[in-house]
Amino acid sequence: MTCPRCDHPDITKLADSPVAGVWTVHQCARCRYAWRSTEPARRTEREHYPEAFRLTAEDIASATAVPTVPPLLIRPEASRSPRGT
Ligand SMILES: [Zn+2]
Repeated sequence: MTCPRCDHPDITKLADSPVAGVWTVHQCARCRYAWRSTEPARRTEREHYPEAFRLTAEDIASATAVPTVPPLLIRPEASRSPRGT
């Protein structure tokens, strides 16, 4: 088995169904995509996963952080309240 989204072979089982043997949840170690075994083939099998949503190692390495973390606000001491709020 490889990841449906990025084709990476390192897949971890996250969970088993409360009733044994009904489903399992797996997650990719590279792109963090997770899927339940009972989802349709377009979500669980690489060859059926939509091409528009597939990722490569290059896509992941060059992905930008979303949302961007803004710089910390530095407030002058005088504007702080006595309780620090
Ligand atoms: Zn993946």
